[in-house]
Formats: sequence, structure tokens, C-alpha cells
Amino acid sequence: MPAPPVELATSPGPGPFASRDIIATTMAEHDHDHAHQAVPSDLTLRVKALESLLVEKGLVDPAALDALIETYEHKVGPRNGARVVARAWVDPTFKQRLLAEGGSAIRELGYGGAQGENLVVVENTPGVHNLVVCTLCSCYPWSVLGLPPVWYKSAPYRSRAVIDPRGVLREFGLDLPESVEVRVWDSTAELRYLVLPERPGGTENLDEEALAALVTRDAMVGVAKVTAS
Ligand code: FE
Repeated sequence: MPAPPVELATSPGPGPFASRDIIATTMAEHDHDHAHQAVPSDLTLRVKALESLLVEKGLVDPAALDALIETYEHKVGPRNGARVVARAWVDPTFKQRLLAEGGSAIRELGYGGAQGENLVVVENTPGVHNLVVCTLCSCYPWSVLGLPPVWYKSAPYRSRAVIDPRGVLREFGLDLPESVEVRVWDSTAELRYLVLPERPGGTENLDEEALAALVTRDAMVGVAKVTAS
């Protein structure tokens, strides 16, 4: 059973903003003096140092690391998740399995791996909208969505998605009526969430592939809806 959502938001937030405001806020908060720091960044250097040490000690194979990075940068992306969503829209028994046991259902379509085992799929309905965040860091369902976008990892998104989910959604251009319950799901390394968006109206004649083409990454994180065009 999935854990209960961390917050059931009912109060309206501030007025509409552009989603880029989240990133702008991050940059504004990051105001200590990096002006004369040479690239690569401190984080990059630390990662390089760790990688060198692990390779030197024979704990990791550099070729395996390269293959892993190549996979998540170029081969795995939100198109995988879009195919999962489209299948759920056209196949009610697959949808049942997906909502009951996300990890094993996505393996039926060939997706899975280390980040996909404990996948919980939460369904949007006319009365419930789900939003995914990782308040601690940036846990994300890599196996179906690839690497997380910058805003997902930003401190403002991570904190505000819980405190003021409706305000955050408005910044992404999604203004939900008060009658819609917003559920926020806090990801962890062990438990990752994927939103099953609502199938838009007017798509009755589309096949699975055409439906998949409509599904966006943002809709599967819960910051957008899927639209028919
Ligand atoms: Fe995390």
C-alpha cells in the first residue's frame, strides 16, 4: 500500500507565476560569491574525486559507469512513462495492475531496473490531482521518466510543493478548482511515484501510440495535465 500523501491542500496560494520563477528563485538564493570560481563546480570536482577513488580501488568499472550514464541520459526518458500511461488508458486490466503494483506492471513493458522496483502509480481523477516531489533531495522514477529536470531538484520546488502545492501548480499554469483535492507525494530512494494523468476528452479515436505522444513528463510528475493537442 502506498503511504498516505503528506498534505491535503485546501488553501489557495499566491497568484500565478511562470514556472521559471522557481528556478529564478533558486538562483537568487544562491547568492554567495561564486563569481570568480573556475569551472568545474565544487560538486563536479567532488564527484570526479569519488569516481577516481572508486575506480582506483577497483570498486567500480569505469566502462560500467559510462554505460549507466549513457543509458539514463540518452536511452531512458519520459517517453517510457508516456507509453506506460497510454497503455493504462487503453487497457483497463493493465491499469489495474499498474495501480496495484507499479514496479511489476512497468516490467511488462520492459521498463524497470534499480529505480523502478518500488514504483507507486497514483491516478488523477476529476476530483483528485496528484503531485510528486522529493523534499529531501531529488528521488525520481528514472526507469520511466529518465533524469529529473532542474526545477524538480530546486530547493523552492521541494519545499513549496508541500507547503503550497496549489500555488506551485499555478506557477506551472495549472489552476485547479477548490473542489479538486490535491495530494502531494514525497518520494524517497525506496519509494518513487508516477502520476497517471487523466486521459483528455476528444481522444476516443486515438490509438495507443498517438495517445503516448500526448503525454508529457510534467503531467507524469503532476505539474500539468495532458491535453488533446
Ligand atoms: Fe531524493
